[in-house]
Amino acid sequence: VLKVEGLRKSFGDNEVLRSIDLSVAQGGVVALVGPSGSGKTTVLRSLNGLEIPDAGRITFDGGPVVNFGSGASKRELAALRDRSAMVFQHYNLFPHKTVLENVIEGPVQVQRRPKAEAIREAEELLGRVGLAEKKDQYPHELSGGQQQRVGIVRALALRPTLLLFDEPTSALDPELVGEVLSVIKELADEGWTMVLVTHELAFAREVATEVVFMDGGVVVEHGPPETVLRDPREERTRRFVHRLL
Ligand code: ATP
Repeated sequence: VLKVEGLRKSFGDNEVLRSIDLSVAQGGVVALVGPSGSGKTTVLRSLNGLEIPDAGRITFDGGPVVNFGSGASKRELAALRDRSAMVFQHYNLFPHKTVLENVIEGPVQVQRRPKAEAIREAEELLGRVGLAEKKDQYPHELSGGQQQRVGIVRALALRPTLLLFDEPTSALDPELVGEVLSVIKELADEGWTMVLVTHELAFAREVATEVVFMDGGVVVEHGPPETVLRDPREERTRRFVHRLL
């Protein structure tokens, strides 16, 4: 569904992405792994237009095609943002809105969908992750795991082509990680297309169809999890994987 070519990004003198190529197949689950600072989050944010790369191209099947460097137009960026939805490390829920209000905000305010329909869909999605009873509560009244499940529902409510997860469990207490990973696993099994930045290599091995190992702003190695995580070709990947698995 998606192709990334030659993506580059610097912050001042810091060259964070040095020509990244990536493709994501329909129903594919791509896990981006690598050491801290390797540029994983920057890639993810670029897919969603939250970061504007200096050069390169992002192509979704059936559009949009966004060329960076020559100046992507506002319309292209809006089209890019419309295709994907992000689940953030720190949930990023609106603290003064209820769970339900958080979920319908995007569909109603941004996508201009009828409110009654957005509410119906939000309630159904909240039910699917076991949070039907929490819809009128505020984020601070929920556990981290519950808040992150709301974060996932909020992303699903946008009906994106692509789901993006930025270290979705790394802010959680260890005992709450499982409930969030199991929701992500269910979505993968249902055929959602997703890109996931994660430090949970055991989880990546379980759900990913493709693992991309990044280091120093380049893709060092990519392939099926049984190759990249079990029997990597590159020494850098080997060292990283052996430290964490
Ligand atoms: P981590 O696993 O620690 O989240 P990462 O692989 O996701 O790391 P990025 O978050 O993409 O890495 O960051 C890559 C580099 O870009 C880091 O050196 C970071 O300090 C720098 N960086 C990221 N965002 C910005 C920004 N907005 N301004 C300046 N530098 C930034």
